[in-house]
Amino acid sequence: MGAEALEHANRYFEWAARELELPQEAWVQLLTPYREVRVELNIRMDDGKTGTFIGYRVQHDNSRGPFKGGIRYHPQVDSDEVRALAQLMTWKTALVGIPFGGAKGGIQVDAARLSVAERERLTRALVDKIHDIVGDHTDIPGPDMGTGPREMAWFFDQYAKYHGHRPGVVTGKPVALGGSLGRISATGRGCVELLEALFNRLGESLSGKRVVIQGFGNVGSWAARFLAERGCKIVGISDLGGAYFNSDGIDIAHALEHVERAGSLRGFDGGEPIEAEALLGLDCDVLLPAAVGGVITKEIAKTIRARFVIEGANGPTTPEADEILHERGIQVVPDILANAGGVTVSYFEWVQNLQHFYWEEEQINKELRRILWQAFDRVWEEAKRRRCSLRLAAYVLAIGKVWEATKWRGV
Ligand code: GLU
Repeated sequence: MGAEALEHANRYFEWAARELELPQEAWVQLLTPYREVRVELNIRMDDGKTGTFIGYRVQHDNSRGPFKGGIRYHPQVDSDEVRALAQLMTWKTALVGIPFGGAKGGIQVDAARLSVAERERLTRALVDKIHDIVGDHTDIPGPDMGTGPREMAWFFDQYAKYHGHRPGVVTGKPVALGGSLGRISATGRGCVELLEALFNRLGESLSGKRVVIQGFGNVGSWAARFLAERGCKIVGISDLGGAYFNSDGIDIAHALEHVERAGSLRGFDGGEPIEAEALLGLDCDVLLPAAVGGVITKEIAKTIRARFVIEGANGPTTPEADEILHERGIQVVPDILANAGGVTVSYFEWVQNLQHFYWEEEQINKELRRILWQAFDRVWEEAKRRRCSLRLAAYVLAIGKVWEATKWRGV
């Protein structure tokens, strides 16, 4: 699984490196991670037995600032997947212009099968093993799939036992511990801002658009709320519990209530149940994949009927599928732009932590909008100038920036 994700990330890099005519030495320097750590995590399980898990932290690049990136708890986590995701973070932070490099971490675990106490011991065990290589000016973890404010709070607390009160060592914390207002909803909000910027460029309105969302976790559910608020019709949603279609638009508040009660969309009565793959081929204006990577394969790409794809997830589209979508005139807002809202508000959280001065939510949302609209405009103009896809334009801009910083720093 992870090997494919890494191969795909490298391929996207290669397309941009060729477009930029980067020398071979740049390819090697930019692709080679700075540091990779793999750790054994032994914890006491609730039944008294010892559970052994493997944790990872890959620090990809820090030429523009401290390493930054989330920590994922998922059964598919492996060293190659974390390498791929760390690389994406380097391009993402460069593209939106926040002063961080890229990193990613994770634990190979099905967190849903652990008790809260086991998740706490596992998170603290990870900090015990990696606290020496993270820090508020070296490497700043944050949330990702399977983690959230709860895990970030334990991370912060365990780190404090070694290094004292350093809230800036991790972002995505609860507001009560120095987390930022607006962080929870930031990735979903960011997707919606970018869609608004896109339709604005096309002289169209976001209101009235029909949207299909794959994944109803943090990113998908917040995007759904904001899209519904802006007058969109969410005609399809899905999660591990099932996929549902409703041509009149799904009542998002009702879907949220259902998930709150039932733990997933399984048994949802606000739409017609359909096959998971059929969801991706629904007739709509916008398809928003907001689940795992690698879901839009070349076979699926041929069935997509959306006009636009906006990648809430990291790496949802394979390079072969990307080429097919491009040939078919379906524009893709790539992950390093589409889901950059999360790390952008993580940046605001870090700034607030370092300054011990906290902003109002209104200011956070305003700054988020400014950063994302500017990044969108740069990508749009670059794509026009080079007559290329938004993905290639985004990668060209991001990789160009990182290479420039690397060159200035020297060996
Ligand atoms: N996991 C998020 C991403 O993939 C960002 C994590 C962070 O805020 O550092 O962009």
